[in-house]
Amino acid sequence: EQEAWGALRDQQTISTDGRHFEVAANVGTLADLEDARKNGAEGIGLLRTEFLYMNQAALPDEAQQFTAYKQFVSTMNEQRVVARTLDIGGDKRLGMVPLPQEANPYLGFRAIRVGLAKPEILRPQLRALLRVSVYGRLAIMFPMVATIEEFRQARAILDEEKDKLVAAGVAVADNVEVGMMLEIPAVAMMADLFAPEVDFFSIGSNDLIQYLFAADRGNARVAYLYQELHPAVLRTVKRVIDAAHAEGKWVGMCGEMAGSPLATPLLMGMGLDEFSMRSSQILRIRALIKKLNTRHLQPLVHRALAAKTAPEVTELVKEFIPELK
Ligand code: PEP
Ligand code: MG
Repeated sequence: EQEAWGALRDQQTISTDGRHFEVAANVGTLADLEDARKNGAEGIGLLRTEFLYMNQAALPDEAQQFTAYKQFVSTMNEQRVVARTLDIGGDKRLGMVPLPQEANPYLGFRAIRVGLAKPEILRPQLRALLRVSVYGRLAIMFPMVATIEEFRQARAILDEEKDKLVAAGVAVADNVEVGMMLEIPAVAMMADLFAPEVDFFSIGSNDLIQYLFAADRGNARVAYLYQELHPAVLRTVKRVIDAAHAEGKWVGMCGEMAGSPLATPLLMGMGLDEFSMRSSQILRIRALIKKLNTRHLQPLVHRALAAKTAPEVTELVKEFIPELK
């Protein structure tokens, strides 16, 4: 099976009815980038920029960030790299940016909340990213956006930095897509109103699922509530995809669910445009997508959305696609 997948490395991911799905990689280091290339990623759907801030005493400056990001963007060439601005807080802490002790860090000061409160961290990062935009095809996304005001604020900071660079004669691409992670249920409820403001959504299922069920993603005692295939998750994802498509915007997913074979037929059937995953899953998921027909998946999607429990959905998927048993 592994060998058959090897042949898929340089192929596009097209369903039997001719729909192209982008199968991209999540990366956090240069070693991950190498893996992504080896496994035939069609792009980078999530560049976790935290690696630059780990294991060093001071914040990386703009020049250091420029050099690092440039390697990802130029290596991927004309394939898209979606860079996420610094996503600290929650489970991710950095020595150089002291965060308050909080009773509920996942509900606290994290991600874009930190970025907006500490523009001295966000601004140089955005400048470095904008400067690498001319070396390939860059998209920028903000993590854990909760409200339209937050997205607008982050975007305004990005536009300001872009204007400053341009005024200083620095080349910046004019096709940089600007989007956001969709990780918070309130945003899914408002997706139709966010959609006109963004270029894309990337669904962060790891966080989205923990917030949907109010079940800490790292807590084994409540792990039974953390159910990727629960109809509540599927309904949320469908709502987001439909809202984005109504505005002509694309939707990706970069949480673990995007690389989970049992979820693949459902996500395909609902029209997810981009699947971003750990590189070791890429060829497996590409092989699966290439065997499926999105039109034939519609009855499955329909029944899964009407199911009452996650085990029911699992059964439906296995019944529909026997090779997933
Ligand atoms: C997610 O929440 O699904 C995600 C991709 O972000 P992280 O796992 O880094 O929080
Ligand atoms: Mg997340």
